[in-house]
Amino acid sequence: MTVRTRFAPSPTGYLHVGGARTALFNFLFARRHKGKFILRIEDTDAARSTDEATKAILDGMRWLGLDWDEGPFFQSAMYDEYRRRANDLLEARLAYRCFCTSEELAQRRDVAMKEGRAPMYDGRCRERKDSPDKPYAVRFKSPLTGSTAFKDEIKGEITFDNSTLEDLVILRSDATPTYNFCVVVDDALMGMTHVIRGDDHINNTPKQILIYKALGKPLPIFAHVPMILGADKTRLSKRHGATSVMAYKEMGLLPHALVNYLARLGWSSGDQEIFSIEELIEKFSLENVGKSSGVFNPEKLTWLNQHYIKSSPAKELVPLFLPFLKELGIDGAGDERNERIINTLKERAKTLKEMAFAAAFYYTDKVEYDKKAADKFLLPEAVPVFEALRLKLSGLKVFDAKSIETASIALLDEKAMKLGALAQPVRVALTGGTVSPGIFEMMEAMGQAKTIERIEQAEAFIRERL
Ligand code: GLU
Repeated sequence: MTVRTRFAPSPTGYLHVGGARTALFNFLFARRHKGKFILRIEDTDAARSTDEATKAILDGMRWLGLDWDEGPFFQSAMYDEYRRRANDLLEARLAYRCFCTSEELAQRRDVAMKEGRAPMYDGRCRERKDSPDKPYAVRFKSPLTGSTAFKDEIKGEITFDNSTLEDLVILRSDATPTYNFCVVVDDALMGMTHVIRGDDHINNTPKQILIYKALGKPLPIFAHVPMILGADKTRLSKRHGATSVMAYKEMGLLPHALVNYLARLGWSSGDQEIFSIEELIEKFSLENVGKSSGVFNPEKLTWLNQHYIKSSPAKELVPLFLPFLKELGIDGAGDERNERIINTLKERAKTLKEMAFAAAFYYTDKVEYDKKAADKFLLPEAVPVFEALRLKLSGLKVFDAKSIETASIALLDEKAMKLGALAQPVRVALTGGTVSPGIFEMMEAMGQAKTIERIEQAEAFIRERL
């Protein structure tokens, strides 16, 4: 049996981190078992579904690297199929026509509530023999007695009393199909072997199981993943911070940091925290998905991001980093210094956005001096030191940190100066401030011409102020 899993989002908004985790678990499970991962867009709610949301979901999945093997399939393109299947059930008397109007249903619900009864459909059209010329909905005939049970791969045995399941509308009076019916028709026709989804769908599962049985289709294996919670243990929502996958992209997270974080949120493999995608695929199993909800922890996500920035080769970071630089109005594309620049910053940057801020000084034509730093370090006595340093630096054939350091130390010896006396003025000259990467690696990254130009600019600045 080839494993087939799916992610089936409703395109009513952006890709939520909870949805992304569901998608990830389905993706990992399919890859782990050399199966197929299918993407299905559940857009039957025409009023709330938008193309924009579909695009946002696809963008989010692509960004995370959750490549699907089939689809995206759109439920809105399948209406004829659902109607055909609903008619099959009608003919087999496993469904029936319900002529009750929405006003009648609402009124009966009110009465039931007032009398303390569950507001369920009372089944009055169930055995109806006549067929008036009136609009009708198609309802699924749920068993009135007995129970429906299934073994959930995460939660264990779950049983529902059939008397609590109402006769579900599967086709509305305008002939549009409803969620529980479409899901089953699709999952059955697409041959899903495993349905891995949020546990907010548990109550739908017995209804869906009964529909599978009525359609004569084999049941998939169900696995309901606990919801993600915020720090206050309520369901994760905007109140807790960003919940959109793409908001994390905009904040400068690496996609794999989020993938790693989401994988660990509700699933574990011993004490291991850092997983490559290959390791996740190799180790992922439903048995190790926890029964209780994971709490979303933004600090841990940032920690992972920092880890991945630090350990990624600069070459891989360049294309991810450049858009953040662009946001600052700097076009760094094609600058041969990019990798070197990133190497001077990646030890400390928590996000790509932070890295771009820290990198801006490398790219600008001139630096703006921080007033305090300039007052303290760009002083007349720095001019001869700068001149001598410039001379030494322009003589270098190889402009790397090692040669720059050797030349600078020679200068310090000649001038009987300490490194500290040189480092801060040079740092202000090159960056405008007093905090930066180590000066030798920074000069290497900046490049010979620009380093010399910056020192000259600082000299001119000091002279002007005399
Ligand atoms: N479309 C449903 C949702 O977005 C998911 C249905 C399912 O996974 O069975 O919640």
